[in-house]
Amino acid sequence: MDYKIPTPVIETLKTLTEAGFEAYIVGGCVRDLILGREPKDWDITTDATPDKTLSLFPDSFYENEFGTVGVKVVPFLTGGKEGREHDIVEVTTYRTESGYTDSRRPDAVTFVSTLHEDLARRDFTMNAIAMRPVGDGSDVETTDPFDGAGSIRDKVIRTVGSPDERFGEDALRMMRAVRFFAELGTGWQIENDTLEAIRKHADSLARVSHERIRDEFSRIILSDHPMEGVELLRTTGLLRHIIPELEEGFGVTQNLHHIYTVWEHNLRALSTCPSKKLEVRLAALLHDVAKPRTKRGEGYRATFYNHDHVGARMTRTILTRLRYPKSVVEKASLLVDQHLFYYNVGEVTEASVRRLIRRVGLENMDDLMDVRIGDRLGSGVPKAKPYKLRHLEYMIDKVSKDPVSVGMLAIKGTDLIEALGLEPGPIIGAILDVLLAEVIEDPSRNVREALLERAAALANEEIGALRELAKEKIEEKREADDAKIRKAHWVE
Ligand code: ATP
Ligand code: MG
Repeated sequence: MDYKIPTPVIETLKTLTEAGFEAYIVGGCVRDLILGREPKDWDITTDATPDKTLSLFPDSFYENEFGTVGVKVVPFLTGGKEGREHDIVEVTTYRTESGYTDSRRPDAVTFVSTLHEDLARRDFTMNAIAMRPVGDGSDVETTDPFDGAGSIRDKVIRTVGSPDERFGEDALRMMRAVRFFAELGTGWQIENDTLEAIRKHADSLARVSHERIRDEFSRIILSDHPMEGVELLRTTGLLRHIIPELEEGFGVTQNLHHIYTVWEHNLRALSTCPSKKLEVRLAALLHDVAKPRTKRGEGYRATFYNHDHVGARMTRTILTRLRYPKSVVEKASLLVDQHLFYYNVGEVTEASVRRLIRRVGLENMDDLMDVRIGDRLGSGVPKAKPYKLRHLEYMIDKVSKDPVSVGMLAIKGTDLIEALGLEPGPIIGAILDVLLAEVIEDPSRNVREALLERAAALANEEIGALRELAKEKIEEKREADDAKIRKAHWVE
């Protein structure tokens, strides 16, 4: 087999071997080479101690507290940032990780002297193969004591050694097994004893840090087979330590609009969501998470009023607990909150599209559309025709330059103060809010003179009355929009 190891990696191996050390590529990159997939990153394992490695490579640094050394090399990875100065090859000294007293991280790493010992501490056989170029570099030699190549050929995910012990040491490995299953896809299986052990040890995931769980979960969500991955998380018992709220939808039937249970629909919405963005895929998975808690009635007329807003709150709780960054939490819960927007060609006015944009933000409209596409395709009873969404896109485009926020009004607060001689204070904001509500209804009003004239009239009102007025104008319409949603989804 002809394996292509990039030149900067070959050079790094060479520097180590010429200094008298052993050095191999190892782990995910070897697995991916054998699979014919392009490795995302390249790891080297060596008998050189971190200090020795540091001294051999002037452009290197400690990557972490366990003595991994990052060697800076000329950029060669595809998919990196354009114009970056370097890529990193990680060089790790042969080691074992001992004492996972809390199923989280090794208490300590111990350097060992042989490659075999280093391979033996790795999680899965397919990840425990070492490889190095031989001769002029056109050929390679592999060291594969656990028959990882056989596992790859047979498409099985199997632990190195006893699965009981390996999951007992580090419970995160169970999620890694599911993650690899979701990434590798068709035909791959988790070997029986390994799968049995995951079921048996699933509850020890509770002791793993939320951050580590989050990172593996994200990779499952972003994989090519997220639905199969999340389903496997459920059947193994891992999901109840990640997002137990999702399991509430298992076996919960819906109504005449749906052929799938809440659980299955959430999964299908995820798998058909066209977006590759984490927060959008999370929103697709969680968009109906509140349906079990809001369900009223049974059978084809069951309703789920308010599941969008309750779901947005649940999404915030879930993603915050998993330690997702605030930006991801806010974005995903906004998308869940707004996923029910009403749209019917010919029926919906430009003003209501502007109100939707005002609520969602123009920059989030594409993502909201992607959640909706997943929702529709994942329903099994496609009701909204795609042309509806294309038409909405056209409408959004059409009104996208129209004012939907105070900042887009043709006058500013300072104009009110200067031109009308008003005192600075909260009244200014209250007047602008009324003007905005009116401009959203009719953008032709967004002209300086007309706005100043209207503002002068409004300035005679009490602030309380102004606030009431702005609220009425927005809320009244909002309620009309909501009523349409309820009517369209009368059984939802
Ligand atoms: P990818 O980079 O595609 O995510 P990978 O297999 O390289 O997959 P990494 O997390 O980069 O995964 O880890 C590199 C290697 O380190 C693995 O292939 C495996 O040999 C070892 N490894 C990583 N995490 C663990 C763990 N929790 N327990 C045992 N070995 C591990
Ligand atoms: Mg890797």
